[in-house]
Amino acid sequence: MTTNIILLGPPGAGKGTQARKLVEERGMVQLSTGDMLRDAQASGSAMGKKVAEVMAAGQLVTDDIVIGLIREKLEQGSEGGFIFDGFPRTLPQADALGELLDGMGAKLDAVIEMQVDDEALVQRITARSTCGDCGEVYNDITKPIPADGKCSNCGGTEFKRRADDNEDSLRQRLMEYYKKTSPLIGYYYAKGQLSSVNGLGEIDAVKAEIAAVLG
Ligand SMILES: [Zn+2]
Repeated sequence: MTTNIILLGPPGAGKGTQARKLVEERGMVQLSTGDMLRDAQASGSAMGKKVAEVMAAGQLVTDDIVIGLIREKLEQGSEGGFIFDGFPRTLPQADALGELLDGMGAKLDAVIEMQVDDEALVQRITARSTCGDCGEVYNDITKPIPADGKCSNCGGTEFKRRADDNEDSLRQRLMEYYKKTSPLIGYYYAKGQLSSVNGLGEIDAVKAEIAAVLG
């Protein structure tokens, strides 16, 4: 069955992690704006050339362009459906996505809000590091790097912290989220499409909650 969903939540809520699970286990296709922009340029498609021009000119990629890229991806189809991750980010983008899906005879099956407590989120993000080899995620509080200094997944010994995982920049990104993106929660609630899961649970517990929503 094809399922199209939006994962909604503040930076660090675990959207990327859960999206990866859905890709692996349900054959869904993850549509993240950054990846789409990179893929489009690499593919040399008509939209890709447009993106390359805009970015080369140092201009911002408009909603129209992103919607165009999403259209290209949707037209390619996906047996498992699509996950919108990081888009829509604003109310106008949500309207535009709705129009696009309507126009293609497609629909959104669920909008899943990953709820997190702000203070816990700040702690979770600033404590995060990843294995430089395999990308396994560690957390100083909940899942520390093993005492022998080796990644439990691949044995790697290099770990990195994202430069923007410091508290100030996280609060900045949170502010952006609350100003521009969090109104989408009310928007999709009013459309009867919103489901909420506890984003602060263990990865498998969150996954189970999402699976229950998707049925
Ligand atoms: Zn590793």
